[in-house]
Amino acid sequence: MNYPTIQLYIDGHWRSAAGAPIINPADETVIGTVPHATKADLDDALAAAERGFATWRKTAPAARMQIIMRAAALIRTRVEDMAVAMTLEQGKPLEQARLEILRGCDIIEWDASEGMRQYGRIIPAGPGLQHMVHRQPIGPVAAFSPWNFPMSAPARKVAGALSSGCSIILKASEETPAGAMQLVRAFHDAGLPPGVLNLVFGNPSEISAYLVPHPTIRLITFTGSVPVGKHLAALAGQHMKPAIMELGGHGPVIVCEDVDPVDVARQSVTTKSRNAGQVCVAPTRFFVHETHFEKFAATFAERAAQLKSGDGMDPTTQLGPLANIRRIEAMDRLVSDATARGARLLAGGSRIGNRGYFYPITVLADAPDDALAMNEEPFGPLALINPVRDLDEAIERANALPFGLAAYAFTHSADNVNRMTGNLDAGNLSINHFVASVAETPFGGIKDSGYGREGGTEGLACYTVAKNVSHKFG
Ligand code: NAD
Repeated sequence: MNYPTIQLYIDGHWRSAAGAPIINPADETVIGTVPHATKADLDDALAAAERGFATWRKTAPAARMQIIMRAAALIRTRVEDMAVAMTLEQGKPLEQARLEILRGCDIIEWDASEGMRQYGRIIPAGPGLQHMVHRQPIGPVAAFSPWNFPMSAPARKVAGALSSGCSIILKASEETPAGAMQLVRAFHDAGLPPGVLNLVFGNPSEISAYLVPHPTIRLITFTGSVPVGKHLAALAGQHMKPAIMELGGHGPVIVCEDVDPVDVARQSVTTKSRNAGQVCVAPTRFFVHETHFEKFAATFAERAAQLKSGDGMDPTTQLGPLANIRRIEAMDRLVSDATARGARLLAGGSRIGNRGYFYPITVLADAPDDALAMNEEPFGPLALINPVRDLDEAIERANALPFGLAAYAFTHSADNVNRMTGNLDAGNLSINHFVASVAETPFGGIKDSGYGREGGTEGLACYTVAKNVSHKFG
Protein backbone atom coordinates (compact mmCIF):
# COMPACT_ATOMS: atom_id res chain seq x y z
CA MET A 1 0.00 0.00 0.00
CA ASN A 2 1.41 3.32 -1.10
CA TYR A 3 0.16 5.70 1.58
CA PRO A 4 2.65 8.33 2.82
CA THR A 5 3.58 9.05 6.42
CA ILE A 6 1.65 12.20 7.30
CA GLN A 7 3.56 15.04 8.95
CA LEU A 8 3.09 18.67 9.89
CA TYR A 9 5.10 21.25 7.95
CA ILE A 10 6.22 24.30 9.89
CA ASP A 11 8.85 26.88 8.98
CA GLY A 12 10.23 24.77 6.17
CA HIS A 13 10.59 21.57 8.26
CA TRP A 14 8.56 18.37 8.59
CA ARG A 15 7.40 17.42 12.09
CA SER A 16 5.91 14.23 13.46
CA ALA A 17 3.37 14.08 16.28
CA ALA A 18 0.88 11.73 17.84
CA GLY A 19 -2.58 11.83 16.36
CA ALA A 20 -5.58 9.90 15.07
CA PRO A 21 -6.07 7.00 12.64
CA ILE A 22 -6.86 7.55 8.96
CA ILE A 23 -9.48 5.17 7.56
CA ASN A 24 -9.78 3.81 4.02
CA PRO A 25 -13.52 4.21 3.26
CA ALA A 26 -13.47 1.29 0.82
CA ASP A 27 -12.68 -1.33 3.47
CA GLU A 28 -12.57 0.56 6.81
CA THR A 29 -8.93 -0.42 7.44
CA VAL A 30 -6.50 1.96 9.12
CA ILE A 31 -4.01 3.25 6.53
CA GLY A 32 -2.07 5.77 8.58
CA THR A 33 -2.05 8.34 11.36
CA VAL A 34 -2.67 12.04 11.14
CA PRO A 35 -0.46 14.07 13.52
CA HIS A 36 -2.18 16.62 15.72
CA ALA A 37 -0.50 20.00 16.18
CA THR A 38 -0.01 21.22 19.74
CA LYS A 39 -0.42 24.84 20.79
CA ALA A 40 3.38 25.15 20.59
CA ASP A 41 3.26 23.90 16.98
CA LEU A 42 0.62 26.52 16.17
CA ASP A 43 2.69 29.25 17.80
CA ASP A 44 5.67 28.17 15.71
CA ALA A 45 3.52 28.17 12.57
CA LEU A 46 2.24 31.68 13.34
CA ALA A 47 5.73 33.04 13.94
CA ALA A 48 6.94 31.33 10.77
CA ALA A 49 4.04 32.76 8.74
CA GLU A 50 4.90 36.23 10.03
CA ARG A 51 8.54 35.85 8.93
CA GLY A 52 7.50 34.12 5.71
CA PHE A 53 5.22 37.03 4.83
CA ALA A 54 8.02 39.54 5.39
CA THR A 55 10.19 37.60 2.91
CA TRP A 56 7.55 36.69 0.36
CA ARG A 57 5.87 40.08 0.02
CA LYS A 58 9.26 41.55 -0.93
CA THR A 59 9.99 38.80 -3.46
CA ALA A 60 9.46 40.02 -7.03
CA PRO A 61 6.21 38.71 -8.56
CA ALA A 62 8.18 37.05 -11.38
CA ALA A 63 10.37 35.19 -8.87
CA ARG A 64 7.27 34.12 -6.92
CA MET A 65 5.69 32.90 -10.12
CA GLN A 66 8.72 30.77 -11.01
CA ILE A 67 8.67 28.93 -7.67
CA ILE A 68 4.91 28.35 -7.81
CA MET A 69 5.13 27.12 -11.41
CA ARG A 70 7.96 24.77 -10.41
CA ALA A 71 5.75 23.29 -7.69
CA ALA A 72 2.95 22.68 -10.21
CA ALA A 73 5.42 21.08 -12.63
CA LEU A 74 6.65 18.74 -9.86
CA ILE A 75 3.08 17.78 -9.01
CA ARG A 76 2.46 16.91 -12.66
CA THR A 77 5.32 14.38 -12.43
CA ARG A 78 3.84 12.89 -9.23
CA VAL A 79 0.21 12.47 -10.25
CA GLU A 80 0.21 8.70 -10.00
CA ASP A 81 1.55 8.45 -6.42
CA MET A 82 -0.63 11.31 -5.25
CA ALA A 83 -3.75 9.85 -6.85
CA VAL A 84 -3.25 6.47 -5.18
CA ALA A 85 -2.92 8.10 -1.74
CA MET A 86 -6.04 10.19 -2.33
CA THR A 87 -8.11 7.23 -3.46
CA LEU A 88 -6.99 5.28 -0.40
CA GLU A 89 -7.96 8.05 2.02
CA GLN A 90 -11.02 9.52 0.31
CA GLY A 91 -12.47 6.73 -1.82
CA LYS A 92 -12.92 8.44 -5.19
CA PRO A 93 -12.04 6.34 -8.25
CA LEU A 94 -8.38 6.63 -9.21
CA GLU A 95 -9.14 8.37 -12.51
CA GLN A 96 -11.12 11.05 -10.66
CA ALA A 97 -8.21 11.52 -8.24
CA ARG A 98 -5.86 12.01 -11.21
CA LEU A 99 -8.20 14.56 -12.76
CA GLU A 100 -8.52 16.39 -9.45
CA ILE A 101 -4.72 16.73 -9.24
CA LEU A 102 -4.46 17.98 -12.83
CA ARG A 103 -7.24 20.46 -12.16
CA GLY A 104 -5.37 21.59 -9.04
CA CYS A 105 -2.28 22.16 -11.21
CA ASP A 106 -4.33 24.22 -13.68
CA ILE A 107 -5.48 26.41 -10.79
CA ILE A 108 -1.98 26.81 -9.37
CA GLU A 109 -0.55 27.73 -12.77
CA TRP A 110 -3.30 30.20 -13.63
CA ASP A 111 -3.01 31.92 -10.25
CA ALA A 112 0.78 32.02 -10.54
CA SER A 113 0.62 33.89 -13.84
CA GLU A 114 -2.18 36.15 -12.71
CA GLY A 115 -0.08 37.07 -9.66
CA MET A 116 2.11 38.98 -12.13
CA ARG A 117 -0.84 41.19 -13.00
CA GLN A 118 -2.00 42.57 -9.66
CA TYR A 119 -2.29 45.97 -11.27
CA GLY A 120 -3.13 49.15 -9.38
CA ARG A 121 -4.37 52.32 -11.08
CA ILE A 122 -3.77 56.03 -11.18
CA ILE A 123 -6.76 58.29 -10.66
CA PRO A 124 -6.38 61.75 -12.24
CA ALA A 125 -6.99 64.50 -9.72
CA GLY A 126 -6.12 67.84 -11.29
CA PRO A 127 -2.80 69.75 -11.32
CA GLY A 128 -0.30 68.80 -8.65
CA LEU A 129 -2.24 65.88 -7.22
CA GLN A 130 -2.34 62.21 -8.04
CA HIS A 131 -4.14 59.26 -6.43
CA MET A 132 -2.39 55.91 -6.86
CA VAL A 133 -4.15 52.69 -5.92
CA HIS A 134 -1.76 49.87 -5.01
CA ARG A 135 -2.88 46.26 -4.60
CA GLN A 136 -0.90 44.82 -1.73
CA PRO A 137 -0.93 41.33 -0.22
CA ILE A 138 -3.26 41.24 2.78
CA GLY A 139 -0.94 39.25 5.06
CA PRO A 140 -0.73 35.77 6.63
CA VAL A 141 -3.79 33.67 5.81
CA ALA A 142 -5.44 30.91 7.88
CA ALA A 143 -6.99 28.36 5.51
CA PHE A 144 -9.33 25.46 6.34
CA SER A 145 -9.88 22.89 3.59
CA PRO A 146 -12.36 19.97 3.48
CA TRP A 147 -12.15 16.21 2.89
CA ASN A 148 -14.01 15.93 -0.42
CA PHE A 149 -11.21 17.37 -2.60
CA PRO A 150 -8.00 16.56 -0.68
CA MET A 151 -5.71 18.25 -3.22
CA SER A 152 -7.62 20.76 -5.35
CA ALA A 153 -9.43 22.44 -2.42
CA PRO A 154 -6.20 23.26 -0.54
CA ALA A 155 -4.50 24.06 -3.88
CA ARG A 156 -7.02 26.86 -4.51
CA LYS A 157 -6.24 28.46 -1.17
CA VAL A 158 -2.47 27.97 -1.30
CA ALA A 159 -2.26 29.22 -4.91
CA GLY A 160 -4.42 32.27 -4.20
CA ALA A 161 -2.38 33.26 -1.16
CA LEU A 162 1.09 32.62 -2.56
CA SER A 163 0.40 34.19 -5.95
CA SER A 164 -0.75 37.36 -4.21
CA GLY A 165 2.34 37.58 -1.98
CA CYS A 166 0.70 36.27 1.22
CA SER A 167 1.99 33.56 3.54
CA ILE A 168 -0.44 30.86 4.69
CA ILE A 169 -1.13 28.35 7.45
CA LEU A 170 -3.17 25.55 5.93
CA LYS A 171 -5.24 23.37 8.24
CA ALA A 172 -6.27 20.64 5.89
CA SER A 173 -8.74 17.83 6.54
CA GLU A 174 -7.66 15.26 9.13
CA GLU A 175 -9.63 12.58 7.27
CA THR A 176 -7.85 13.10 3.93
CA PRO A 177 -4.47 14.64 4.79
CA ALA A 178 -2.24 13.10 2.08
CA GLY A 179 -3.53 15.26 -0.78
CA ALA A 180 -2.63 18.44 1.10
CA MET A 181 0.66 17.07 2.40
CA GLN A 182 1.85 16.09 -1.07
CA LEU A 183 0.80 19.49 -2.37
CA VAL A 184 2.90 21.16 0.32
CA ARG A 185 5.81 18.81 -0.36
CA ALA A 186 5.91 20.00 -3.97
CA PHE A 187 6.22 23.63 -2.82
CA HIS A 188 8.98 22.63 -0.40
CA ASP A 189 10.84 20.80 -3.18
CA ALA A 190 10.31 23.76 -5.52
CA GLY A 191 12.32 25.99 -3.16
CA LEU A 192 9.61 27.99 -1.43
CA PRO A 193 11.27 29.95 1.41
CA PRO A 194 10.58 28.67 4.96
CA GLY A 195 7.48 29.99 6.68
CA VAL A 196 5.61 31.05 3.54
CA LEU A 197 3.52 27.86 3.60
CA ASN A 198 2.77 25.88 6.77
CA LEU A 199 0.60 22.79 7.18
CA VAL A 200 -1.13 21.69 10.37
CA PHE A 201 -3.76 19.14 11.40
CA GLY A 202 -5.52 18.58 14.69
CA ASN A 203 -8.80 19.33 16.38
CA PRO A 204 -10.51 21.66 13.84
CA SER A 205 -12.46 23.72 16.36
CA GLU A 206 -9.45 24.17 18.66
CA ILE A 207 -7.20 25.19 15.78
CA SER A 208 -9.67 27.68 14.31
CA ALA A 209 -10.41 29.10 17.77
CA TYR A 210 -6.69 29.78 18.15
CA LEU A 211 -5.74 30.92 14.64
CA VAL A 212 -8.72 33.05 13.61
CA PRO A 213 -8.46 35.62 16.45
CA HIS A 214 -4.65 35.63 16.45
CA PRO A 215 -3.28 39.07 15.47
CA THR A 216 -0.83 37.56 12.95
CA ILE A 217 -3.68 36.24 10.82
CA ARG A 218 -5.19 38.77 8.42
CA LEU A 219 -7.58 36.68 6.30
CA ILE A 220 -9.63 33.52 6.87
CA THR A 221 -10.58 31.15 4.06
CA PHE A 222 -12.85 28.17 4.71
CA THR A 223 -14.52 25.52 2.56
CA GLY A 224 -17.04 23.32 4.32
CA SER A 225 -20.53 23.23 5.75
CA VAL A 226 -22.85 26.20 6.27
CA PRO A 227 -23.06 25.83 10.09
CA VAL A 228 -19.26 25.73 10.51
CA GLY A 229 -18.90 28.56 8.01
CA LYS A 230 -21.33 30.74 9.95
CA HIS A 231 -19.44 29.98 13.15
CA LEU A 232 -16.07 30.89 11.62
CA ALA A 233 -17.46 33.98 9.87
CA ALA A 234 -18.84 35.20 13.21
CA LEU A 235 -15.50 34.58 14.90
CA ALA A 236 -13.68 36.39 12.07
CA GLY A 237 -16.16 39.27 12.35
CA GLN A 238 -15.52 39.65 16.08
CA HIS A 239 -11.85 40.14 15.26
CA MET A 240 -12.46 42.29 12.15
CA LYS A 241 -10.90 39.71 9.82
CA PRO A 242 -12.16 39.43 6.24
CA ALA A 243 -13.17 35.92 5.22
CA ILE A 244 -13.73 33.83 2.10
CA MET A 245 -16.53 31.36 2.78
CA GLU A 246 -17.13 28.54 0.28
CA LEU A 247 -20.05 26.70 1.85
CA GLY A 248 -22.72 24.25 0.87
CA GLY A 249 -25.16 24.18 -2.01
CA HIS A 250 -28.23 22.28 -3.19
CA GLY A 251 -27.68 22.49 -6.96
CA PRO A 252 -30.87 23.01 -8.97
CA VAL A 253 -30.98 21.73 -12.56
CA ILE A 254 -33.67 23.17 -14.81
CA VAL A 255 -34.52 20.98 -17.79
CA CYS A 256 -36.58 22.95 -20.30
CA GLU A 257 -39.07 21.73 -22.89
CA ASP A 258 -36.73 22.34 -25.86
CA VAL A 259 -34.01 19.76 -25.01
CA ASP A 260 -33.60 16.00 -25.36
CA PRO A 261 -34.43 14.58 -21.89
CA VAL A 262 -32.55 11.31 -22.49
CA ASP A 263 -29.31 13.08 -23.32
CA VAL A 264 -29.58 15.42 -20.32
CA ALA A 265 -30.47 12.54 -17.96
CA ARG A 266 -27.36 10.62 -19.06
CA GLN A 267 -25.09 13.61 -18.54
CA SER A 268 -26.74 14.20 -15.16
CA VAL A 269 -25.99 10.69 -13.89
CA THR A 270 -22.34 10.96 -14.89
CA THR A 271 -22.03 14.26 -13.03
CA LYS A 272 -23.97 13.03 -10.02
CA SER A 273 -21.63 10.04 -9.69
CA ARG A 274 -18.55 12.27 -9.51
CA ASN A 275 -17.01 11.91 -6.05
CA ALA A 276 -20.19 9.96 -5.17
CA GLY A 277 -22.11 13.24 -5.04
CA GLN A 278 -19.92 14.66 -2.27
CA VAL A 279 -19.41 17.90 -4.12
CA CYS A 280 -20.74 21.32 -3.11
CA VAL A 281 -21.73 22.01 -6.74
CA ALA A 282 -23.34 18.57 -7.30
CA PRO A 283 -26.59 18.66 -9.28
CA THR A 284 -29.29 17.60 -6.82
CA ARG A 285 -32.77 19.07 -7.40
CA PHE A 286 -33.90 18.41 -10.97
CA PHE A 287 -36.84 20.53 -12.12
CA VAL A 288 -37.93 18.95 -15.37
CA HIS A 289 -40.59 20.31 -17.73
CA GLU A 290 -43.69 18.17 -17.25
CA THR A 291 -43.67 16.89 -20.85
CA HIS A 292 -40.25 15.29 -20.26
CA PHE A 293 -40.55 14.36 -16.60
CA GLU A 294 -41.35 10.62 -16.86
CA LYS A 295 -38.84 9.97 -19.63
CA PHE A 296 -36.13 11.91 -17.82
CA ALA A 297 -36.74 10.17 -14.48
CA ALA A 298 -36.87 6.70 -16.03
CA THR A 299 -33.64 7.24 -18.02
CA PHE A 300 -31.90 8.70 -14.98
CA ALA A 301 -32.89 5.75 -12.77
CA GLU A 302 -31.98 3.16 -15.39
CA ARG A 303 -28.58 4.69 -16.00
CA ALA A 304 -27.90 5.15 -12.27
CA ALA A 305 -28.64 1.49 -11.58
CA GLN A 306 -26.05 0.48 -14.21
CA LEU A 307 -23.11 2.23 -12.53
CA LYS A 308 -20.49 -0.11 -11.12
CA SER A 309 -19.87 0.63 -7.48
CA GLY A 310 -16.64 -0.50 -5.83
CA ASP A 311 -13.18 0.25 -4.49
CA GLY A 312 -11.74 3.29 -6.26
CA MET A 313 -8.48 1.37 -6.81
CA ASP A 314 -10.31 -0.96 -9.21
CA PRO A 315 -10.08 0.69 -12.66
CA THR A 316 -13.56 -0.53 -13.59
CA THR A 317 -15.22 1.27 -10.66
CA GLN A 318 -17.52 4.13 -11.63
CA LEU A 319 -18.88 4.98 -8.17
CA GLY A 320 -16.53 4.89 -5.18
CA PRO A 321 -17.50 4.60 -1.51
CA LEU A 322 -18.70 7.59 0.48
CA ALA A 323 -15.86 9.19 2.42
CA ASN A 324 -17.07 8.40 5.92
CA ILE A 325 -19.85 6.76 7.90
CA ARG A 326 -21.52 10.16 8.52
CA ARG A 327 -22.50 10.33 4.85
CA ILE A 328 -24.10 6.85 4.98
CA GLU A 329 -26.12 7.93 7.99
CA ALA A 330 -27.15 11.15 6.25
CA MET A 331 -28.27 9.26 3.11
CA ASP A 332 -30.35 6.77 5.14
CA ARG A 333 -31.99 9.57 7.11
CA LEU A 334 -32.86 11.66 4.03
CA VAL A 335 -34.15 8.71 1.98
CA SER A 336 -36.36 7.28 4.72
CA ASP A 337 -37.82 10.71 5.50
CA ALA A 338 -38.56 11.43 1.82
CA THR A 339 -40.20 8.07 1.13
CA ALA A 340 -42.26 8.36 4.33
CA ARG A 341 -43.53 11.68 2.95
CA GLY A 342 -44.56 10.11 -0.35
CA ALA A 343 -41.52 10.37 -2.61
CA ARG A 344 -41.16 7.52 -5.15
CA LEU A 345 -37.88 5.59 -4.90
CA LEU A 346 -36.75 4.86 -8.48
CA ALA A 347 -33.20 3.60 -7.82
CA GLY A 348 -30.85 2.83 -4.94
CA GLY A 349 -32.03 3.66 -1.44
CA SER A 350 -29.86 1.64 0.92
CA ARG A 351 -26.25 0.90 1.78
CA ILE A 352 -24.43 -1.73 -0.28
CA GLY A 353 -22.92 -4.38 2.00
CA ASN A 354 -21.66 -3.63 5.47
CA ARG A 355 -17.93 -3.22 4.98
CA GLY A 356 -16.82 -0.03 3.24
CA TYR A 357 -19.12 2.97 2.93
CA PHE A 358 -20.81 2.06 -0.34
CA TYR A 359 -24.09 3.66 -1.33
CA PRO A 360 -25.71 3.58 -4.79
CA ILE A 361 -26.96 6.58 -6.72
CA THR A 362 -30.41 7.03 -5.25
CA VAL A 363 -33.19 8.56 -7.31
CA LEU A 364 -36.33 10.00 -5.74
CA ALA A 365 -39.21 11.36 -7.81
CA ASP A 366 -42.01 13.62 -6.58
CA ALA A 367 -40.36 14.38 -3.23
CA PRO A 368 -42.55 17.00 -1.54
CA ASP A 369 -41.04 20.40 -0.81
CA ASP A 370 -41.07 19.72 2.92
CA ALA A 371 -38.98 16.53 2.64
CA LEU A 372 -35.67 16.99 4.47
CA ALA A 373 -33.77 16.02 1.32
CA MET A 374 -35.37 18.91 -0.58
CA ASN A 375 -33.99 21.32 2.01
CA GLU A 376 -30.76 19.90 3.48
CA GLU A 377 -27.68 19.52 1.32
CA PRO A 378 -27.45 15.72 0.84
CA PHE A 379 -23.72 15.80 0.04
CA GLY A 380 -23.99 12.30 -1.35
CA PRO A 381 -25.38 10.29 -4.27
CA LEU A 382 -28.97 11.51 -4.06
CA ALA A 383 -30.97 12.96 -6.97
CA LEU A 384 -34.43 14.47 -6.53
CA ILE A 385 -36.53 14.75 -9.69
CA ASN A 386 -39.69 16.84 -9.86
CA PRO A 387 -41.94 18.06 -12.70
CA VAL A 388 -42.57 21.75 -13.34
CA ARG A 389 -45.21 23.45 -15.51
CA ASP A 390 -42.97 26.21 -16.85
CA LEU A 391 -39.77 28.16 -16.36
CA ASP A 392 -41.31 30.56 -13.84
CA GLU A 393 -42.18 27.66 -11.55
CA ALA A 394 -38.71 26.13 -12.01
CA ILE A 395 -36.97 29.40 -11.09
CA GLU A 396 -39.22 29.95 -8.09
CA ARG A 397 -38.56 26.45 -6.75
CA ALA A 398 -34.84 26.62 -7.48
CA ASN A 399 -34.66 29.84 -5.47
CA ALA A 400 -36.75 28.54 -2.57
CA LEU A 401 -33.76 27.43 -0.46
CA PRO A 402 -31.31 29.59 1.46
CA PHE A 403 -28.47 28.18 -0.72
CA GLY A 404 -27.12 29.90 -3.84
CA LEU A 405 -23.99 28.18 -5.12
CA ALA A 406 -24.10 26.39 -8.49
CA ALA A 407 -27.16 26.11 -10.72
CA TYR A 408 -27.54 24.39 -14.09
CA ALA A 409 -30.00 24.68 -16.94
CA PHE A 410 -30.58 22.92 -20.22
CA THR A 411 -32.23 24.95 -22.98
CA HIS A 412 -31.55 26.29 -26.46
CA SER A 413 -33.66 29.39 -25.94
CA ALA A 414 -31.79 32.68 -25.50
CA ASP A 415 -34.89 34.08 -23.84
CA ASN A 416 -34.84 31.31 -21.21
CA VAL A 417 -31.13 31.92 -20.58
CA ASN A 418 -31.76 35.62 -20.19
CA ARG A 419 -34.54 35.03 -17.67
CA MET A 420 -32.43 32.63 -15.62
CA THR A 421 -29.38 34.88 -15.73
CA GLY A 422 -31.50 37.65 -14.27
CA ASN A 423 -33.48 35.66 -11.75
CA LEU A 424 -31.70 32.53 -10.49
CA ASP A 425 -30.10 32.86 -7.05
CA ALA A 426 -26.66 31.36 -7.71
CA GLY A 427 -23.02 32.41 -7.78
CA ASN A 428 -22.42 30.15 -10.80
CA LEU A 429 -24.87 29.22 -13.56
CA SER A 430 -23.87 26.75 -16.27
CA ILE A 431 -26.08 26.34 -19.33
CA ASN A 432 -26.08 23.06 -21.30
CA HIS A 433 -23.15 21.60 -19.37
CA PHE A 434 -22.15 20.66 -15.83
CA VAL A 435 -18.81 22.41 -15.29
CA ALA A 436 -19.40 24.92 -12.50
CA SER A 437 -16.00 26.59 -12.55
CA VAL A 438 -12.54 26.59 -14.10
CA ALA A 439 -9.30 28.22 -12.96
CA GLU A 440 -9.94 31.51 -14.73
CA THR A 441 -13.55 32.05 -13.63
CA PRO A 442 -14.79 33.28 -10.25
CA PHE A 443 -16.44 30.61 -8.13
CA GLY A 444 -18.51 31.11 -4.99
CA GLY A 445 -21.91 31.51 -3.49
CA ILE A 446 -24.61 33.92 -2.46
CA LYS A 447 -27.05 33.66 0.48
CA ASP A 448 -26.04 30.88 2.92
CA SER A 449 -23.60 29.43 0.37
CA GLY A 450 -21.08 32.05 1.43
CA TYR A 451 -19.16 35.02 0.15
CA GLY A 452 -15.85 35.87 -1.43
CA ARG A 453 -14.67 34.11 -4.57
CA GLU A 454 -12.04 31.53 -5.49
CA GLY A 455 -10.64 31.51 -9.02
CA GLY A 456 -10.39 34.25 -11.60
CA THR A 457 -9.22 37.77 -10.94
CA GLU A 458 -12.00 38.10 -8.35
CA GLY A 459 -10.48 35.21 -6.37
CA LEU A 460 -7.01 36.71 -6.23
CA ALA A 461 -8.39 40.13 -5.31
CA CYS A 462 -9.60 38.61 -1.99
CA TYR A 463 -5.95 38.09 -0.97
CA THR A 464 -5.06 41.75 -1.49
CA VAL A 465 -5.98 45.12 -0.04
CA ALA A 466 -6.25 48.35 -1.99
CA LYS A 467 -4.02 51.08 -0.63
CA ASN A 468 -4.59 54.56 -2.01
CA VAL A 469 -1.58 56.84 -2.02
CA SER A 470 -2.60 60.45 -2.56
CA HIS A 471 0.40 62.47 -3.69
CA LYS A 472 0.56 66.28 -3.87
CA PHE A 473 3.53 67.63 -5.75
CA GLY A 474 4.92 70.53 -7.76
P1 NAD B 1 -18.79 19.26 9.53
O1 NAD B 1 -19.79 20.35 9.41
O2 NAD B 1 -18.48 18.72 10.87
O3 NAD B 1 -17.37 19.70 8.92
C1 NAD B 1 -17.24 20.34 7.67
C2 NAD B 1 -15.76 20.72 7.53
O4 NAD B 1 -15.45 21.73 8.47
C3 NAD B 1 -14.77 19.60 7.82
O5 NAD B 1 -13.71 19.69 6.90
C4 NAD B 1 -14.29 19.86 9.26
O6 NAD B 1 -12.98 19.42 9.48
C5 NAD B 1 -14.36 21.37 9.32
N1 NAD B 1 -14.67 21.91 10.63
C6 NAD B 1 -15.62 21.50 11.48
N2 NAD B 1 -15.66 22.30 12.57
C7 NAD B 1 -14.70 23.24 12.40
C8 NAD B 1 -14.25 24.35 13.16
N3 NAD B 1 -14.82 24.70 14.32
N4 NAD B 1 -13.22 25.08 12.68
C9 NAD B 1 -12.64 24.78 11.49
N5 NAD B 1 -13.03 23.77 10.72
C10 NAD B 1 -14.05 23.00 11.16
O7 NAD B 1 -19.33 18.12 8.62
P2 NAD B 1 -18.69 16.90 7.88
O8 NAD B 1 -19.43 15.67 8.27
O9 NAD B 1 -17.20 16.83 7.90
O10 NAD B 1 -19.09 17.30 6.42
C11 NAD B 1 -20.48 17.27 6.11
C12 NAD B 1 -20.99 18.54 5.59
O11 NAD B 1 -19.98 19.48 5.29
C13 NAD B 1 -21.66 18.24 4.28
O12 NAD B 1 -23.02 18.00 4.49
C14 NAD B 1 -21.43 19.45 3.45
O13 NAD B 1 -22.53 20.30 3.56
C15 NAD B 1 -20.27 20.14 4.08
N6 NAD B 1 -19.06 20.13 3.26
C16 NAD B 1 -18.99 21.04 2.29
C17 NAD B 1 -17.88 21.08 1.48
C18 NAD B 1 -17.79 22.07 0.38
O14 NAD B 1 -17.07 21.82 -0.57
N7 NAD B 1 -18.45 23.22 0.48
C19 NAD B 1 -16.84 20.19 1.69
C20 NAD B 1 -16.92 19.25 2.74
C21 NAD B 1 -18.05 19.25 3.52
